[in-house]
Parts: sequence; C-alpha cells; structure tokens
Amino acid sequence: MATDSYEDAIAGLNQLLRKKSGVGDVAAAKIKQLTSELEEMGSSKSDAVERIKSGFIHFKTHNYQKNPDLYDQLAKGQSPKFMVFACSDSRVCPSHILNFQPGEAFVVRNIANMVPPFDQKRHSGVGAAIEYAVIHLKVENILVIGHSCCGGIKGLMSIEDDAAPTQSDFIENWVKICAPAKNKIKQELKDLSFDDQCTNCEKEAVNVSLGNLLSYPFVREGVVKNTLSIRGAHYDFVNGTFELWELDFKTSPSFSF
Ligand SMILES: [Zn+2]
Repeated sequence: MATDSYEDAIAGLNQLLRKKSGVGDVAAAKIKQLTSELEEMGSSKSDAVERIKSGFIHFKTHNYQKNPDLYDQLAKGQSPKFMVFACSDSRVCPSHILNFQPGEAFVVRNIANMVPPFDQKRHSGVGAAIEYAVIHLKVENILVIGHSCCGGIKGLMSIEDDAAPTQSDFIENWVKICAPAKNKIKQELKDLSFDDQCTNCEKEAVNVSLGNLLSYPFVREGVVKNTLSIRGAHYDFVNGTFELWELDFKTSPSFSF
C-alpha cells in the first residue's frame, strides 16, 4: 500500500513533467530533480523504514514500558517548566545534551536557534509557539541555546553587505534576524579570524534572540513579574562544554532589521 502510493507519487511527478508546457522551466527542472532524487531514495527507503521501526521499538522497550507512571501522567496533559530554542542541527538535540525527559521541555528548533522579533505577519510559527508556551503552558524558563560550528551563523557571517538578496529562497532572510549580532562582531572583533568571529557570533546571536524575546508583551510581563526567567547558552560539541548566562537587560531588542 505504502509502496503503491510512493510509486504513484513518482508517476504523478513524471506526468507533470511531460506536461512541461504548462509548468514553468524552473518548476519543471525542480520536479525533474525531485523525481530522480525520489528514485534514488527508493533503494534506501527500506533502510530508513527499518531504522525508524527499530528506533521506536527501542524507545518503547527501554523507556515507554519502563515508565508507566510518567506516561500515564503525560496522557493527561503537559506542564513543562522549560521552553527551549535550539538549532535544527542534528548534533545538538536539547533532549540529549540536557537530558530532558518527555514532558519537561517545550522545544522550538530552527536554523541557528533564532527568535525573531514580535511580528504578527512574519515568522508567526515561532510567535505562536512562544504564545502557547508562555500563556497556556505557563513555562517558567526560556532558554536559547547556540552551538559550536553552527552552519546558520556561518551563513549569516558570510553574507556580504551589498550582496543581492536572492542567494537562497529562505535561509538568508531567516538568519538575518540576527544581523545585529553579525554587525557587532564585524565591528568590534574585526581582527579575529573568520572562525573565531563565527564562534563569538554564535553567542552574540543568542543575545539578540534574548532581546527579541522581550518584544513579546507576554514575555516582558512574565520577566517583570518574575514568573519567567530568560537565559542564553552555548553548547560546544568540539570541547564538550556548555555555557549558560542570564538575560542581560542591556541587550537591546532588535524590533526591526
Ligand atoms: Zn546551528
């Protein structure tokens, strides 16, 4: 059944390709690339399914079935104490590095663990997550974790000031959320090597995100009333270290960029 629908999908894409006249050249090229990639993936598909299956069986045997009280509790609801922002990077899962158990942390992961400033028209997925965590779940802590060798930060630091803004469909615009961090590092640490500048920017970008968190009225209110703590962190997986710092009120929120 699953195989049928998979093959149907490829057939459908190929059919679309054949009707190329109705599809723009760029779209047609994308579809062509997608179908060839899908065909290649077909050979490793069973490996992926096996990996997913064995992963879940391992979790169910070693975790789920061994903690019935926890999962009974979680079936009734969640009340995590933490909201965590972490990078999508496969090496920095916060549940692994901080040993968060199910129910402990409400997590948002995105490119370079960025928090955009309050804006109901842009990046509203992040806004919705913050609103839900703070207002409905009443989390007591928000933690933004940057990390070593962050590709998103490297990308941000590599954007030339006068570059055409069309190098990528999404990434450049997204990482520019932390442009104030890049500008600060380029100005204040211009003598450092590019790699060292990136490491500093990984931390400074966290500060920009902490500032941006304060642009959300419900976050500000929680901080002022002392019901919500905001912290920044940097996880270095090259050296195996983790740095944690409190919100610095001198960090100026970047409401526009
Ligand atoms: Zn990253």
